[in-house]
Amino acid sequence: MSIECDVLIVGGGIAGLSLASELAPHRSIVLVEAEPTLGYHTSSRSARQLIPSYGPPAVQELTRRTLGILANLQADTGLALTTPRSFLLVGTEHDVAGKASGSMHPISHAEALELCPQLQPDSFEAAGIDTTCVGMNTDLLLEYHRRTAEDAGAMVIPRSRVTDARYDDGAWCVRAGGRTIRADVVVNAAGAWADTLAGLCGVAPQGLVPFRRTAAIVPVDRAPDPGMPMVAAADDSFYFRADGSGLLISPCESVPGTAEDAQPIPGDIEALIERLNTVTTFGITSTSRSWTGLRTETAAGLPVVGFDPVLPGFFWLAGQGGYGFQTSSGIAELATALLTDARAEPAGPACLLKPRSAPEGSGDAAREAL
Ligand SMILES: Cc1cc2nc3c(=O)[nH]c(=O)nc-3n(C[C@H](O)[C@H](O)[C@H](O)COP(=O)(O)OP(=O)(O)OC[C@H]3O[C@@H](n4cnc5c(N)ncnc54)[C@H](O)[C@@H]3O)c2cc1C
Repeated sequence: MSIECDVLIVGGGIAGLSLASELAPHRSIVLVEAEPTLGYHTSSRSARQLIPSYGPPAVQELTRRTLGILANLQADTGLALTTPRSFLLVGTEHDVAGKASGSMHPISHAEALELCPQLQPDSFEAAGIDTTCVGMNTDLLLEYHRRTAEDAGAMVIPRSRVTDARYDDGAWCVRAGGRTIRADVVVNAAGAWADTLAGLCGVAPQGLVPFRRTAAIVPVDRAPDPGMPMVAAADDSFYFRADGSGLLISPCESVPGTAEDAQPIPGDIEALIERLNTVTTFGITSTSRSWTGLRTETAAGLPVVGFDPVLPGFFWLAGQGGYGFQTSSGIAELATALLTDARAEPAGPACLLKPRSAPEGSGDAAREAL
């Protein structure tokens, strides 16, 4: 079976789906996903929080843009995609001052304890709060993008791993899930597999590294206040937030891994519970479930978005790291502008990474600001 389209998007996570829904009114789209379900990998394993004060300036700008787009979307559709949930940073004076930026502002020790009474008073010196954050219903957002893309004519095909791709005479011939797909452009939204997919397409890698991060849901004796902020240690040793009658917790690790169906390492969550029981009064004793996802990053820590400089029919949409949801609509808007008008000046962020052409390890000269 053969299908023709303008743009083939590879990857059915938040990156691929948000682009599909934005681009589908302008171009004929096929999206293929290797797994039987959309969002199976990192996009179903996040903490579901959008934090405008988190990340480098370009990421903060994309997050503000995404929040604006989602607010309009909620107003138009009535979908409850986000709910207000502040972000509280605690730690030493030095660590909090070093981490706080953008919309985060300092608050007193007493104010922090009022916001999260379960924190042990002697476990931190200083605190900052970002009240512009929201919690996100990520399943609803993924489903919204799938439906919007399909309503606009896109074909979304799960169980279809790209296994072969050739670029001849300005067009792609791609094999995925027993089909042949012909497209003018291939968009690489393959998450942790983005460099692998590039290799399969004959394109040089961007040096993307998947970093493991684990999270868990734990029961607690007294259900936390649902209005409690997400609380994070400024030294990156933990975060937690209310999740129904329990807590979502993470040790905040960033350990280089490989592209795979990542699973928690035995002992990691137990060590985190021990730590949380010294800095809070929750008295956690067990784990309901735990998972690990891959936050895939470039060396510069910025998403790489745009046409490959050597193979112009190949478009990068990768390296979203720990910001994939909070930047998703901003990046989809930017990518759509680039894909629909080759002369488009990138809107908004001044310093996303342009895909580079130089080989791995050749230095920062190969990186250019968009
Ligand atoms: C513990 C944790 C907490 C996080 N918390 C947050 C948060 O609070 N807020 C936030 O904004 N971000 C958060 N993130 C980051 C966010 O989840 C990611 O940035 C985002 O999900 C990445 O989406 P993606 O679409 O790029 O990748 P993925 O969701 O991994 O999607 C890529 C898809 O491509 C498919 N694929 C790969 N190769 C092929 C192929 N050859 N053929 C077909 N399909 C292929 C894969 O099967 C996969 O489904 C968190 C991440 C983790 C791990």
